[in-house]
Amino acid sequence: MSDVDVVVIGAGAAGLGAARQLMAAGRTFKVVEAMNRIGGRAWTTSTDFGVPFDIGCAWLHAADRNPFYPEAQAAGWTLFHHDMGLDHLYYGDRKADAADLAAISAADAELQRLIEAHDGANDRLSSLLAKGHALRAAATFSGPMDFGQDDDEISIADFRAAADLDPNYFTKEGFGALVARFGADVPVELATLVREIDWSGSGVAVETTRGTLRARAAIVTVSTGVLAFEDIRFRPHLPEAHTEAIFDLPMGLLTKIPVEIRGDRLGLSPFDDLLIERHARHDVFFLCFPFDLDLMVGFVGGDFAWEIEAAGQDAAVDFVTDRLVDVFGSNLRPRIGRSLMTNWGGERLTRGAYAAARPGKAAARQTLAQPVGDRIWFAGEALAGPLIQTAGGARLSGEAAAREVIAQLG
Ligand SMILES: Cc1cc2nc3c(=O)[nH]c(=O)nc-3n(C[C@H](O)[C@H](O)[C@H](O)COP(=O)(O)OP(=O)(O)OC[C@H]3O[C@@H](n4cnc5c(N)ncnc54)[C@H](O)[C@@H]3O)c2cc1C
Repeated sequence: MSDVDVVVIGAGAAGLGAARQLMAAGRTFKVVEAMNRIGGRAWTTSTDFGVPFDIGCAWLHAADRNPFYPEAQAAGWTLFHHDMGLDHLYYGDRKADAADLAAISAADAELQRLIEAHDGANDRLSSLLAKGHALRAAATFSGPMDFGQDDDEISIADFRAAADLDPNYFTKEGFGALVARFGADVPVELATLVREIDWSGSGVAVETTRGTLRARAAIVTVSTGVLAFEDIRFRPHLPEAHTEAIFDLPMGLLTKIPVEIRGDRLGLSPFDDLLIERHARHDVFFLCFPFDLDLMVGFVGGDFAWEIEAAGQDAAVDFVTDRLVDVFGSNLRPRIGRSLMTNWGGERLTRGAYAAARPGKAAARQTLAQPVGDRIWFAGEALAGPLIQTAGGARLSGEAAAREVIAQLG
């Protein structure tokens, strides 16, 4: 006996997308979410700076294919088109000159050409990076700061499949708020942690901290990091191919370290992109004064992001402050106000920012997308086709999984 047709696990963009499809099709379902809010990695809060700030996703990538974009437009939200061009580049405390900038622009074009032409022999992005800091800076900007992994952990095939995310927009009201608005009508059991999915019978029995739910099928939208840690047990175990695929899609990390800057704008314009390249991959990127707010939002990615989150917020803010002082001078130090470090690596319900395939393992995404026993479907940013890693892609993935489930249930 089933309580409902479908249990959806997780109320992030994917889970909410799946639920809304099930609702529209008149199916019975339950959405269970361990957090005490919906949105998952989409989360806007005004608590830290008194204005909406996105702790998770912020850019509405691929706006022409992103279902959230027309919804933000229809809601009359403030949208800004961000060209993602590199406006300011420093090597340590040295400002890149015109020759450096010409070199990085050529390096960027060269990197794109090499990625397109890659024949699959050595699938590590780092294998394309010749010596020379211009090419490395180009790779930092698109690699760790974007993919959340260091170049030697990025699969070229995976990277290439997801490379085109233009056009990109910001919304002043917050991307997390947009996802929450999308899910506002979806009934969700909050603060309900799933511990086990038993699929030994004809449907699924989903054991949660608030009892067991029986359904004909489950849509699992938790991150591959959560799956890899076996925070949800499967009984019987998942097929070996699925288990391997989960481990071949480890979580990358992107950490935001926003700092408030009082006083003038340091000669920068709102939404300028500033990259400081350093040794040992301790590179830091800043989104400058978005919407003319008093904020410079620092980003670190890849291995260094795991290191900095482990070191803690004070160390992270010190690091960012020191880098800004390197570039803008010590008069800046007393002008720094409130600050924050996001901590998606330490968040047990995500265990990282988003998944990236290991070199040679780009096909893991297709494997994990295969339903198990015609009753367990996986969905989410890791399975979002050309929009992997994005919130818009996660939603589309959840919607697609729900349509498959609906067809399967007949
Ligand atoms: C710092 C950062 C910056 C980002 N920037 C962007 C960006 O600019 N643009 C963009 O498009 N994307 C960005 N992303 C990625 C984007 O946020 C995610 O791809 C997307 O939100 C993932 O949605 P999802 O539904 O797949 O997963 P999630 O949002 O993680 O949803 C899964 C849900 O499952 C819940 N859960 C986990 N375990 C259990 C359990 N055992 N029982 C019940 N519930 C459970 C979690 O609490 C979570 O709510 C960013 C992410 C981060 C972390």
